[in-house]
Amino acid sequence: MLKKKIFRMEVLIICTLLFGTVFLPDLLGPYFERFLMQRKRKEFVQHEPYYRDLIFRNIRFFHRLDSEQQDKFLFRTYLFQRSRKFHYVGVEASPEMPVLISAVAAQLTLGLDKFKLNYFRDIYVLEHDYHYGYYSLPFMGHVDSSGIYLSWDNFLQGLGTNRDSNNVGLHEMAHALAYVNFVTKTEEDKHFIKEFRNFSKIARPIFQEMQKGKKNLLGDYAATNYHEFWAISVEMFFENPLRFKHELPDLYLAMSKVLKQDPIEQIKYKRSIIYKKTSLQ
Ligand SMILES: [Zn+2]
Repeated sequence: MLKKKIFRMEVLIICTLLFGTVFLPDLLGPYFERFLMQRKRKEFVQHEPYYRDLIFRNIRFFHRLDSEQQDKFLFRTYLFQRSRKFHYVGVEASPEMPVLISAVAAQLTLGLDKFKLNYFRDIYVLEHDYHYGYYSLPFMGHVDSSGIYLSWDNFLQGLGTNRDSNNVGLHEMAHALAYVNFVTKTEEDKHFIKEFRNFSKIARPIFQEMQKGKKNLLGDYAATNYHEFWAISVEMFFENPLRFKHELPDLYLAMSKVLKQDPIEQIKYKRSIIYKKTSLQ
């Protein structure tokens, strides 16, 4: 009788343990995630003024956002940065480097659910243009399976106010975003993947025409291959949205759908706020 009782007890313990191991993580996962996120938000409070000031001074995109989007942008920048390992190669590290690089990633993915580009744990910062592989031309940045590489002087130039539509930070993050969704498939964003198919219906014919020699505002480098076409289009979308929409309206619309944000609408919003303020004075 006693043996039977002990046996039942053992079975009960094993079943409880099995249930706990199999189902508990699924049941408690979302709560635990929410708890971790709240903790990170609390941690971020002390860093927020530094992030806000630095990003306000360096990233024009930030000015166009409403306050809710600005908060989201700053917190995502923080989350991106803290999950990364930054390596400084031949350049002196400074505190603004990881923040600004992370901010550019947050800019690109602000409309998407998945924003961490987690496959790329390592980000390498170099001082100037550099040589890579067997290519004869110098690189301003690149992405490969070992990480994201950026040259700091070119990165800063991309953030500058000159209207040349170049932004190497956005360019490399665009490659990274495509990489995690389509190559490693480690951080698939459902919306991005679905809309990228629609984007390609518009983009592929334009790209193919460019390969045959047709010119447009994206420039010759965009005709190198479809990866470069995508990355250059991303740069143009954020850096020169009005011209982009004017010259390639369908592609602009497709880009705003795939990234779930529209820089022209953001600019309009900001202008309306400035107008309201000045007309109240
Ligand atoms: Zn590229």
